[in-house]
Amino acid sequence: MSLRDGAVPGLPVETELPERVGVLVLGAGLAGCAALLAAAEAGRYALLLEKTGEIGGSTVKSAGLSAFAGTDEQAEQGIADSVDLLRKDLLEVGKGRNDPALVDLYCEHQLDAHRWLKGHGVRYGEIHAASGQSAPRSHPADTTRMLELLLKAAGELGARIMCDAPAARLLHDGSRVTGVRLADGREVRADAVVLATGGFSMNPELLAAFAPQMEHALRQGGDGNEGDGLKMAMALGAGLRDTPYIKGTYGHYYTEHPDEDGTGVLAVYKGAIAVNREGRRFVDESKNYKEIGDAALAQPGVTTWQVFDARTMAQANDEVPIYGFGGRERAGMLLKADTIAALEAAIGLPEGSLRRTVAEYNAAIEQGRPDPFGRARLSGGVGRPVPIDRPPFYAHPSGTVVLATYCGLTVDTRMRVLDWWGDPIGRLYAAGEITGGFHGAGYMTGTSIGKSGVFGRLAGRNAAAEESELQW
Ligand SMILES: Cc1cc2nc3c(=O)[nH]c(=O)nc-3n(C[C@H](O)[C@H](O)[C@H](O)COP(=O)(O)OP(=O)(O)OC[C@H]3O[C@@H](n4cnc5c(N)ncnc54)[C@H](O)[C@@H]3O)c2cc1C
Repeated sequence: MSLRDGAVPGLPVETELPERVGVLVLGAGLAGCAALLAAAEAGRYALLLEKTGEIGGSTVKSAGLSAFAGTDEQAEQGIADSVDLLRKDLLEVGKGRNDPALVDLYCEHQLDAHRWLKGHGVRYGEIHAASGQSAPRSHPADTTRMLELLLKAAGELGARIMCDAPAARLLHDGSRVTGVRLADGREVRADAVVLATGGFSMNPELLAAFAPQMEHALRQGGDGNEGDGLKMAMALGAGLRDTPYIKGTYGHYYTEHPDEDGTGVLAVYKGAIAVNREGRRFVDESKNYKEIGDAALAQPGVTTWQVFDARTMAQANDEVPIYGFGGRERAGMLLKADTIAALEAAIGLPEGSLRRTVAEYNAAIEQGRPDPFGRARLSGGVGRPVPIDRPPFYAHPSGTVVLATYCGLTVDTRMRVLDWWGDPIGRLYAAGEITGGFHGAGYMTGTSIGKSGVFGRLAGRNAAAEESELQW
């Protein structure tokens, strides 16, 4: 869901572009809205420019999970977690390629940011475990409501937003960024600029340049997420981090209209196997959904199917999007049959192929033999594989989708954008998906929304601390 410009009463929408502002924020996702509010709370005149006619970017299309550790919500659910464990997990998932200073920064500020968001009215639902988390720490929230709350609070402090206002170039006087030129040629001056324009999952050219392995992947994200901010900062010499680690996510319904799908489902984590067009398995299905995504992209014809039975279907949970296979059945997105042979025919797999694959899989489990792909668990380190033998049987056509790009501008712990030599580009800040360095070589569920909130707030606050030339 998106917030239509002006459709939500109380949003501080501006129609006239001012000549000069204190803090200028580009992009109305979580990072931008958090930066706007933090700058306004610091007493600065802050303006947010949004490229599209809608507020929200990828943030409002997401599953809304934030990774926080040590929260009251976890304590209420009896979940043992700690900031130290979060730090350890982040470095492990990132395979030590992440910037430890950014990991530490996140760990230091995440609880405070979580309380700040709650203080502005954000509410979190039931916490569950997801990829890369050794303790359940995915905190779900309604992200549309979250942005609405942040923007209204910012508006009450005098901040403003303008939609349909795409920034095209950063203005620079030789020593520092001085403002922004819009696509229509208008200019606005600022004491500091915060880039929060999101990733580039919707830009096939940039994806081809940085992640050619994603050529056949589906793409999803905010309509405006085409890497504009990245290009504007690169034009000033900004450095980049983590570009080799762009990954797709497995489980997306394979369609040319991925917006209809949301996050995809992962029946594999509840007992399904994944098979390719030849009716064969191709991966240890308990792996991280990014790794399964890579394996699926390497299969002939790219589309694969998650195949499962009534036992797995009984564990469907509409509250958790990745386990929403019940909803998929109601939406007519699953193939269903009373026998594996009939399911094989319904999918159009070679005769006998799926029957053979399922029979071998079941026999290995029943006889305690090692799985040829090394699968010993249902998901991560949890659960044991179960035979697929209880009718009816189901298949979910599944592809790999690029939901986020996880790499981007080099920033320091003040969220200042650094050039290729590690020097700050004067008065230019960045936060959210546009930044690199935090995730490293892998992604823990909830850390993209998490870093947008935590680092967006810091970027706004630090940008607001720049010396002002503005009287207001
Ligand atoms: C289906 C889906 C599910 C996801 N689920 C999760 C999840 O559960 N947990 C998680 O951590 N992450 C998740 N992600 C990733 C996460 O949503 C994003 O990484 C995060 O929301 C990015 O926030 P942001 O503020 O940096 O950017 P965005 O929310 O994408 O906002 C960027 C904004 O900048 C605007 N913009 C772009 N160019 C310009 C310009 N030139 N001028 C002005 N404005 C511009 C865009 O239009 C957009 O509105 C998911 C993503 C998708 C697509």
